[in-house]
Amino acid sequence: MKYDFDLFVIGAGSGGVRTARMSASKGLKVGIAEYQALGGTCVNVGCIPKKLFVYASEYSHIFDQAEGFGWSIAKTEFNWDILRENKNKEIERLNKIYNNLLDHVGVKVIRGRASILDPHSVKVGNNVYTAKNILIATGGTPYIPEFPGSKLVVTSNEAFYLKELPRKIIIVGGGYIAVEFAGIFKGLGVETHLVYRGPLFLKGFDSDVRNKIKEEYENQGVVLHFSTDVEEVKKINSGYCVRLSTKEEIDVDLVMYATGRIPNIKDLGLESLNIKTKSNGTIIVDDYFNTSEPSIYALGDVIGRIELTPVAIAEGMALSNFFVTGMRSSVDYTNIPTAIFSQPNSASVGLTEEEAIKIHGIDLRIYKSQFRPMKATLGGGDSKVFMKLIVIHSSDVVIGCHMVGDYAGEIIQGLAVAIKAGATKQNFDSTVGIHPTAAEEFVTMRQPVD
Ligand code: NDP
Repeated sequence: MKYDFDLFVIGAGSGGVRTARMSASKGLKVGIAEYQALGGTCVNVGCIPKKLFVYASEYSHIFDQAEGFGWSIAKTEFNWDILRENKNKEIERLNKIYNNLLDHVGVKVIRGRASILDPHSVKVGNNVYTAKNILIATGGTPYIPEFPGSKLVVTSNEAFYLKELPRKIIIVGGGYIAVEFAGIFKGLGVETHLVYRGPLFLKGFDSDVRNKIKEEYENQGVVLHFSTDVEEVKKINSGYCVRLSTKEEIDVDLVMYATGRIPNIKDLGLESLNIKTKSNGTIIVDDYFNTSEPSIYALGDVIGRIELTPVAIAEGMALSNFFVTGMRSSVDYTNIPTAIFSQPNSASVGLTEEEAIKIHGIDLRIYKSQFRPMKATLGGGDSKVFMKLIVIHSSDVVIGCHMVGDYAGEIIQGLAVAIKAGATKQNFDSTVGIHPTAAEEFVTMRQPVD
C-alpha cells in the first residue's frame, strides 16, 4: 500500500522534532503536526525561558556581592516587561529556527491538532494523511488538583507570560518547577512562599542535596511551608487569600501550582485504537517505543519515563535509527545527569545515598565537602558549596555524584562522562584539579564520612 508519509509525527517538541529531522535527513518522507508554537514545552514554556528567567534573577545575588569587589552599585531596578518581551523575542527566534530545521530536511510541517483515525491515518483539520508509521510525541501539560478555588491559580505556562510581576506569590509543589520558580521570583524581589505537602521538598533527590537547598532558600528568605496543603484559594480585592491546612491565611498577588504534569492524550483518538495507557494516562511502550499497536510509536513526556528534554532526544535518535535502518535500538536510562536550576544550582548523576544503601548496603564510602565559595571571601554572603561522592567500597567505582553550588549543572555534566565510563575513586584521586575552582574539590576529597 502506498502511504502519504513513511512517518507521521504528532507533536513538534524536543522528541518529535528530533525523530522527524533524523528520519527525513536519511531519506524518509516525514510529516509533523503541531497546533502550538514549534519546539514544545522546552522551547516555549520550559527549559529555555526558565533558564533566561534564572539568569535575570541571579543578577540580584551578583549585585549583592559587587561592593566587596570595589563596585558601587547605584539603586538597582528591575523591569519585568523588558525581561518578558526580550524572552518572547528569543523564543520566537527559536520557533523560526525549528521551522527552518524541519524545512531544510524536507519535513512537511502541518499546523493543526491531530487525531489518529486508524493505525495508518491521521486527521488534521479537514485533511486526512496516511502513514506507514505514526509517532505520538505530544508531551505533557501542567496538572492542577481539584480544590476550592483551583480555577484561580496559574501554572508555569502562564508564569512565563505574566502581565505584571507579583509583589507576593505562593508556589505550591515541591518538584523541579516549584523550586526553580521559587528561586526565580525571590531573586526578582518577590516575597515568595513555597507550600509543599511533604516534610521536605525534592523527593527522590539525595537527602543532603534536599536539605542544602532548603538551607540556602531559607537564608535567602524564601518562606517554606512544609507538611502543608492548600485548603482554599479565594479572590479578594487586591489578589487572593490562600487558606493553608495549618489554618494560616496568606494574602498574595498570585498563586502558582507546580504539582506535576500529565500526558497530552486528550482528543488523540486513542480510545478507538489498541493503545494501552497507564492509570495516569501515560502511553505504554516497549523498549523500542512501540505501543501495543504495531504501526504506532510514542516517546518523550507522553510515555512518562524520565521527563527531560535530552532523554526525549535520545529516544528520538534511537527510534529514527530504527525507522531508517530497521535495527531496533533502545535507550540506556542509567546514570542520566540532571540539574535543578535552583539558586544556587544543584546537579546530580547516579545514585542518591538512599538508593545506594538499598542496593549496596554498607559496602559504601561516602565523601562530602562543604565550603565557602571563593567569591564570597570578598563578596560576602552565607551561601556554601556542597559536594558529595558515593563510592562502592569493594570495587572503588563511583556511583553517585551530587553538587549544590554555582555552575553545578556545568560541572556535573563533565563528571557524568566519568561516571558513565565507570570511573573509580582512584581515577578521581589521580586526576589533577584545576585551581582555583570549586570543581577541583571533586578530585581532592580524601576522607570518607563515618
Ligand atoms: P514534579 O513531578 O517534579 O513535582 C511535582 C510536585 O508536586 C511534587 O513535589 C509532588 O509532591 C507535588 N504534588 C503532586 N500532586 C500534588 C497534589 N495533588 N497536591 C499537592 N502537591 C502535589 O513535577 P514538576 O511539575 O515540578 O515538573 C514536571 C517534570 O518536568 C519534572 O519531573 C521533570 O522531569 C521536568 N522538569 C525538569 C527540569 C529540569 O531538568 N531542570 C525543570 C522543570 C521540570 P510529592 O513529592 O509529595 O509527590
